[in-house]
Amino acid sequence: MRLRFAPSPTGYLHVGGARTALYNWLLARQSGGSFILRIEDTDLSRSTEEAIEAIMTDLRWLGLDWDEGPDAGGEHWPYRQTGRYALYHEAALRLLREGHAYRCFCSPEELKERREAALREGRNPMYDRRCRSIPEGEAQRLEEEGRPYALRFRVPEEGETAVRDLIRGEVVFRNREIEDFVLLRNDGTPTYNLAVVVDDIDMRITHVVRGDDHLSNTPKQLLIYHALGKEPPAFAHLPMIVGTDGKPLSKRHGDVAVGYYREAGFLPEAMINFLALLGWSLDDSTTIMDRETLVANFGLERVSSKPAVWDTDKLYWMNAQYIMAMDEEGLAEAIRPFLVREGLLAEGDEEGMERLRHAVPLIRERIKVLADAVPLLAFLFREVETAEDSREFLEGDENRAVLREAGKRLLELERFDAESIESALRAMVEGMGLKPRKAFQPIRVAVTGSKVSPPLFESMELLGRERCLQRIARALEGSERRGSRVR
Ligand code: GLU
Repeated sequence: MRLRFAPSPTGYLHVGGARTALYNWLLARQSGGSFILRIEDTDLSRSTEEAIEAIMTDLRWLGLDWDEGPDAGGEHWPYRQTGRYALYHEAALRLLREGHAYRCFCSPEELKERREAALREGRNPMYDRRCRSIPEGEAQRLEEEGRPYALRFRVPEEGETAVRDLIRGEVVFRNREIEDFVLLRNDGTPTYNLAVVVDDIDMRITHVVRGDDHLSNTPKQLLIYHALGKEPPAFAHLPMIVGTDGKPLSKRHGDVAVGYYREAGFLPEAMINFLALLGWSLDDSTTIMDRETLVANFGLERVSSKPAVWDTDKLYWMNAQYIMAMDEEGLAEAIRPFLVREGLLAEGDEEGMERLRHAVPLIRERIKVLADAVPLLAFLFREVETAEDSREFLEGDENRAVLREAGKRLLELERFDAESIESALRAMVEGMGLKPRKAFQPIRVAVTGSKVSPPLFESMELLGRERCLQRIARALEGSERRGSRVR
């Protein structure tokens, strides 16, 4: 099997595009075939180099590697349509020569006017085929005169074109309802329908798997294949992705850029698992599947033709499952760039990494995305500033007494490990006749800066005695200062 992902580089990689890429990739890897990345950049006004880079970055992050492509090489290099115009012109001229195409001299302004008039009068706005009947000699003469023209496909007036889709079954289009579509614009640039067919033939694509927004293009493409005397590939149109409200997925539903999910700290493996299930299922119950399982079991037979629902809560849940399954080393490595990004950890700080590795088990079950780890762990990597909503726990005589006493007891400890810290502080609380939950709060706030933190005693062990004592002393000092001012 030879499959391709053929993005138009006009912006970031959309999650729908990522799902298309994934399904193609899975089929290629499963069959031992090839996965090709082809950049469809014929829309010069909207295509950018940055978008090409961004799309490749996102695909690499997802682990969807390609065998042929702009940077990977291959016999069809450059795998960018702007580098392949000669092929499109050759095919277009052949279609013209063989009577499957004709020159259309209508100007864009005329076409627009006629279209608008048709819509106003409730008529079909399709091209009225005016130039279709210009005799060849006349058309040649106009061309020689230098009159600009577009090349249109001569769609048969009779009959039907049937798309045999691997997901939807047979979808039949009446030729009468297909417009004489443009192959080459009057500036010589190829249209999508021409370029895609020429490329899919040339690159020997066996299966075209793409979003069902392209289904209406497929009969046009089939007509080109037939006119060129080529066997078309198999087609599979993937169901549209909708939000939980049933409307097509868009920014209203949250973020649709793959890059957003990367930056928020979703794991590529969770993303792959989630995307795979947007339209496909292994059975009625399995949700967590690693890449190997997907490669081994994916198949178009189990892709639904019904819209697939994008459920953000499910994605968070799934990501949390993957986080919980990671080992400490791996999770620490995954969290590292997020701490670096916030300036909490320097690249190459081995001692910091060691602390992070030890901290990971404390937060593993409290985070859904990697970025969640940052506020939870910040206290381990910088001096604390007491959070607004936690300040009250440092005020008042009772809290000050707790801090003072805790400082003393911690100083006396022989070993500064979680267990010893816990028993010392529990004994202290009991001796003072306080409720543990309440009495630990000032210590927690002093040490971590917040009333919500990873487990306290383990956190203190990680932070070390010296830093804990410093923070407790500082909190006490501040509290005393404020206390005396009030009095
Ligand atoms: N370039 C097209 C797009 O981005 C894809 C075309 C295709 O897969 O046939 O929608």
